[in-house]
Amino acid sequence: MLHNQVYFDNASTTKLNVEVKNTYFKLLDEYFENSESLYSNGVKVHQLVEKSRVAVASILNVEAKEIIFTSCASEANSLAIKGIAFKYLNQNKHLITSKVEHSSVLNAFKQLEELFGFDVTYLDVDKSGCVDYNQLVNAVRPETILVSIMYVNNEVGSINQIDKIKKYIKKESNAFLHVDCVQAVGKIAVDLSDIDLASISAHKLNGLKGSAILMKRKHIKLVPLISGGQQELNTRGGTSNACANIVFAKTLRLALEQMHGSQLHCAKLKEYCVTKLSEIEGISINSSDDSVVNILNISCANLYSEVMMNALNQKNICISAQSTCHSKSNTGSYVLKCMGYSEKISKTCIRLSFCKDNTLDEIDYFINSLKEIIKNYGTNI
Ligand code: PLP
Repeated sequence: MLHNQVYFDNASTTKLNVEVKNTYFKLLDEYFENSESLYSNGVKVHQLVEKSRVAVASILNVEAKEIIFTSCASEANSLAIKGIAFKYLNQNKHLITSKVEHSSVLNAFKQLEELFGFDVTYLDVDKSGCVDYNQLVNAVRPETILVSIMYVNNEVGSINQIDKIKKYIKKESNAFLHVDCVQAVGKIAVDLSDIDLASISAHKLNGLKGSAILMKRKHIKLVPLISGGQQELNTRGGTSNACANIVFAKTLRLALEQMHGSQLHCAKLKEYCVTKLSEIEGISINSSDDSVVNILNISCANLYSEVMMNALNQKNICISAQSTCHSKSNTGSYVLKCMGYSEKISKTCIRLSFCKDNTLDEIDYFINSLKEIIKNYGTNI
């Protein structure tokens, strides 16, 4: 009999929180009006969105006028990066990011470089997947206008030294600092002070897909990517996805309330899983010891990532290799390559990402399945 689905892909997306779902459905039933409309129900929707903005801001310790609701964190990343850069077209300005950012960040920089002529420095990472701080310091120039560094890497869970980086950028440069906080919020303590722009996605926090925010300091003006009206502080056109924006506050609050317990639980799962994996020959643990406790990246003997993923899928186990945005390419993980791992390790990696609902029994089932798959497939590389 097929085992119940074992979902170890929580860095890709998470199950919707029941409280969030119920509130969202109720809102959808009650309010369809445009939040910019001037009649009573439109005003009421507007008020609820603004109440959510205030709540989100207060949770994050920023001001309400520093929260912009967006359709996803990819959009928030694009808006932060291109929104800054487009103010400085044809002025020979310089931008900095790292080589292991999420594709929404990397491809925004590629566009700025290739289509708009910006000079971009892509920083290396060390063996644990963290940005090389000294290289960052050396890369900053008087003409650097933006530094964008992710807080936590989505493939391996490495945690960048954002506190150190932000202090340096604030003190020693004129650049704005953008931090992709998608895999950090709800997983580790995140302090947004001295960060100019930050992106957070609801669907990584048991919230809705198609819902995210960009925190943008109030003194910063961005060039809107979606032209439109006065919506979202004149920074993002388009009719507000009001009900999604309203439940963002609840999503964030619940995720942060549950963070401590959830991460303690994930730490136990990860430790148990690593111990069990150490009993299997040919397994490489690619996440460093100080990575976030909910992400574990491993490579399995000689089995290509997609072979392993498919074989685990046959056993009703959901995992990813690399980030889900690259799930259909078989070029190997660029993150692992940048960390100095071999081509073989980069092509045989899988990512397990846990949540509070996963169990030790599920880890046992995964380990037994893995052993069986390795035995059946042998070497195929
Ligand atoms: N940044 C990181 C680090 C991510 O892991 C992801 C999603 O996988 C994103 C950005 C994009 O988030 P969204 O799916 O909301 O566009």
